[in-house]
Amino acid sequence: MTSDESRRLYDRALSVLAGGVNSSVRATMPYPFFVQKGDGGHVVDADGNRYLDYVNGYGPLLYGHSPPEEVQAAVQKHSSQGPMYGAPTEIEVEHAEFVARHVPSVEMLRFVNSGTEATVSAVRLARGYTGRDKIVVMQGGYHGAQESTLVEGEGDHVHPSTRGIPQEFAQHTIPVPFNDTEAIIEVFQEHGDDIAAVLTEPILGNKGIVMPVDGYHETLRDLCDDFGSLLVFDEVITGFRVGGLQCAQGKFGVTPDVTTFGKIIGGGFPVGAIGGRAEIIEQFSPSGPVFQSGTFSGHPVTMAAGHAYLQYAAEHDVYEHVNALGEQLREGLTEICREQAPEYTVVGTDSMFKVLFTRDAPDEFEGHCDAGCTQREDCPRYELCPKTGADVAACDTERWERVFWQQMKEQGVFLTANQYESQFVSYAHTEDDIEETLDAYREAL
Ligand SMILES: *Cc1c(COP(=O)(O)O)cnc(C)c1O
Repeated sequence: MTSDESRRLYDRALSVLAGGVNSSVRATMPYPFFVQKGDGGHVVDADGNRYLDYVNGYGPLLYGHSPPEEVQAAVQKHSSQGPMYGAPTEIEVEHAEFVARHVPSVEMLRFVNSGTEATVSAVRLARGYTGRDKIVVMQGGYHGAQESTLVEGEGDHVHPSTRGIPQEFAQHTIPVPFNDTEAIIEVFQEHGDDIAAVLTEPILGNKGIVMPVDGYHETLRDLCDDFGSLLVFDEVITGFRVGGLQCAQGKFGVTPDVTTFGKIIGGGFPVGAIGGRAEIIEQFSPSGPVFQSGTFSGHPVTMAAGHAYLQYAAEHDVYEHVNALGEQLREGLTEICREQAPEYTVVGTDSMFKVLFTRDAPDEFEGHCDAGCTQREDCPRYELCPKTGADVAACDTERWERVFWQQMKEQGVFLTANQYESQFVSYAHTEDDIEETLDAYREAL
């Protein structure tokens, strides 16, 4: 496998792009491969090497790189007729109607251009609606590159997690460990009347894949109801990925007040959305007092791609296919770990998967979750499998990134570039692809 062309391109990129990339996770060591094109479940790099692709754009590509005919036709039609106008179009209404019809908590939406923009707007909306300032977030949760959620620490020692954000911003954000019922109850006892919203991913999807323990989301729902705070589910990753068209909230049977979307709902184009009950979403300008606006928001090409994506999934076996392959993959990985690396934990659900390099092996494997950790209390691993972002950060992340990822790449399997980010099976993958992938894991683990 040669990489001369990618190295040459990276060298050029370093002169004109900060760190040679436009999103920090892409800067893999020693230099990233540059993609020439996608092809179904594969990507081909600038040197002609082919990889089975489980990155799928970090989440948006439900169909891999060969979307259905209908999607391509919709994109071509809308890009050749505009592509955008600064005036509303029917396709925005159609896409919103579809989302509102399928997602339990959503009556009304506002489309924006990225997941980050969606969570920024959702936080402003929650503050505007409740007249309160504080938001609660999960340690290790990710809501994009936004000022209010890029925080670290706990209790009285919360600070921004990056340079460039005033310390004062962090005063309004309360991070708690995911899955820790006592911690969230305590925070509400102390600050409940000042909390505008609890903002959480239904499943941590950017810090390993961490499923909620039994009852956790119900506790969040009850606390928000008791204190008049909004429960905001960030479904940018899980939306139309987990739980099919109802999203993760449908799978878990917990209804948030507000949901943020991104990734899949743009059909491969830049997108975000904020959805929820009409009385809340109508607080956005121009119908309400919370300012929100965007030149590209509801972009016709994005709307057409997203709508065709979801419409196709509604009419075909898309979720059955990707979820069955996800299960085949996680079952195979569980077997491999059991034999070769019993300390590691296979995580994921539906079409999401990851192997976490946890450090302690359970005493026994009988009765173990066999297709990804579900946080089942009677599993012999229950005490060992990650429950919080900190548990995932305690994994052997260096080995994952510097040794394992490279070995998988050498074998032609493209995984997300660190221990933390989820990987995705796409509709373009086949059972043979999964077997080939398992062989690569068997070699590398
Ligand atoms: C990807 C992601 C975001 C940020 O979306 P961008 O489109 O990258 O701005 C926010 N929240 C979650 C849960 C995500 O996975």
